[in-house]
Amino acid sequence: MHEGNRTEISTLGEFGLIKHLTEGIKLQNTESKYGVGDDAAVLEFKDQQVLVTTDLLMEGVHFDLVYTPLKHLGYKAAMVNFSDIYAMNGTPKQITLSVAISKRFCIEDLDDFYEGVKLACDLHHVDLIGGDTTASVTGLAISITCIGAADKKQVVYRNGAKETDLICVSGDLGAAYMGLQLMEREKAVFQGEKDVQPDFAGKEYLLERFLKPEARKDIIESLAKAGIKPTSMMDISDGLSSELMHICSQSKVGCRVYEERIPIDYQTAVMAEEFNMNLSTCALNGGEDYELLFTVPLTQHEEISKIKDIKIIGHITKAELGCALVTRDGNEMELKAQGWNHMEK
Ligand code: ADP
Ligand code: MG
Repeated sequence: MHEGNRTEISTLGEFGLIKHLTEGIKLQNTESKYGVGDDAAVLEFKDQQVLVTTDLLMEGVHFDLVYTPLKHLGYKAAMVNFSDIYAMNGTPKQITLSVAISKRFCIEDLDDFYEGVKLACDLHHVDLIGGDTTASVTGLAISITCIGAADKKQVVYRNGAKETDLICVSGDLGAAYMGLQLMEREKAVFQGEKDVQPDFAGKEYLLERFLKPEARKDIIESLAKAGIKPTSMMDISDGLSSELMHICSQSKVGCRVYEERIPIDYQTAVMAEEFNMNLSTCALNGGEDYELLFTVPLTQHEEISKIKDIKIIGHITKAELGCALVTRDGNEMELKAQGWNHMEK
């Protein structure tokens, strides 16, 4: 956050601030008829289904500004919403962004935050079409609503997995969680309680995964190109284990996932060892990976195997068999939704 050159928000006032933050926004999608500047934005979707998702992020609960730069926070807040739209096999088109700001924040801080949001929007061709701005007494609160579109026949729900389907994930898992652990460990250093500087050498990937997640638009495109429509899909925000159980309960099926097939990056493994944590537990229960978890019919084994950055980690079974992890030594462990539950903290 800015400490030296800070311009107090009161110098602009609410309307001046909104104007400052939204100046220069150009609409890129034909579906966005009118954006910021009136009582409501105007959208028009032809022959498509409209997808809507929303997130509310509270300082101290969902993010910690001690180690999260505001630009990254803006980027991430937008990305995780795009990820939800991709998880429906749709395309994100617009967002509204609402912020509640305390006096601790100056205009330069909000500029950083909006820079991150706008960067994410540019990368995914999403229009910022409105929002709301208000004061807060304690900290920063952010709410983003994302609107997306999909052809009616292309929308993928969580409830379509069938027995014998293959379970697939994109990317690798557990790295964002390790990045968070690393940040928490170094937090004392950031706060100046120790003299040592944090050393992140060799751990860059973990920090990047935590601070700068990327919504997997590329995977949605690869699947479409290969003519594959998943039978079920969701993004991994709370951890693989918990998300698998959502798919299985909503699809009324069971699953077997193989421990040895779960994709894990080398840096994640090194870090888990350093922290003395079980690596598979991190990959299964660590949150905020924002990878895609989906199922495809067994008949598409060959096509799916050819796609880069997708791994088959198991298969769907009858509901009676429950949800289990097959460990490296061949034992079965019932999956538990340990997840990433902010409410329990
Ligand atoms: P209202 O009084 O109807 O809430 P506002 O004065 O809050 O209207 O907003 C004016 C315009 O600016 C609207 O188009 C609104 O969507 C947009 N807007 C307000 N706050 C933000 C923000 N933080 N980011 C982007 N657009 C905003
Ligand atoms: Mg308003």
